[in-house]
Amino acid sequence: MSALIAIYGLIIGSFINVCIYRIPKGEEVVFTPSHCFSCGYRLKWYDLIPVFSYAFLQGKCRNCGESISIQYPLVELANSAMYVWIYLIFGSSIETVLYMFLASALLTISVIDFKHMIIPDSIVVFIGILAIINLIFNIKLWLYFVVGFFVVSVILLVIAIITKGGMGGGDIKMMAVAGLLIGWDKILLALMLGAILGSVVGVTLIALKIIERKQFIPFGPFLAAGVFASALYGEEIIGWYLKLYQ
Ligand SMILES: [Zn+2]
Repeated sequence: MSALIAIYGLIIGSFINVCIYRIPKGEEVVFTPSHCFSCGYRLKWYDLIPVFSYAFLQGKCRNCGESISIQYPLVELANSAMYVWIYLIFGSSIETVLYMFLASALLTISVIDFKHMIIPDSIVVFIGILAIINLIFNIKLWLYFVVGFFVVSVILLVIAIITKGGMGGGDIKMMAVAGLLIGWDKILLALMLGAILGSVVGVTLIALKIIERKQFIPFGPFLAAGVFASALYGEEIIGWYLKLYQ
């Protein structure tokens, strides 16, 4: 079962690459055939086998020899690994299905935000749909999830107002729908984890002189990583944290 999920993760990962490339350009993602970005060569089915085509072609276009970004196989492998990881934790359950879609959405957001400094509304809406499906399955807990929609998004909105745009609208919207999906305590944890991770990475990059002190780094990928970690391990982390105060 894990092997099948790994393969499924690679295939969806391949689709994520299409989304990452096309969504910021406003292009259609499902029906348009894939072409080489350099020469326009229309990729055949055997050029589109995740990871393997890249390895077989040694990262070059079959037609013109132009290099293909390592981002493609990395995104496919990352998506596949997250799917297996989720399955190993949640088994055959509705959480597994919803969190796999969530993980793919977070991965897409992370790469797009990293490259373009935007979080597309279409992916935010997609996470919102997942959250509504989850709400239908857990309607008795509706307040737990609805509070999750507001608890972090309002904090970020206040920060955005105080700092006059220091916090992106995309980050706020993403944390609202992610909170509706994972609940108020886990989205607060996700914000904490994202802030810690972002600070550690930011300080390290400044210390290593890879970036300037004033240089802007997108917060989206760190928040997305926080949401992923909190969705998977939130209950354990929060339980452990609360025990410290007993
Ligand atoms: Zn080419």
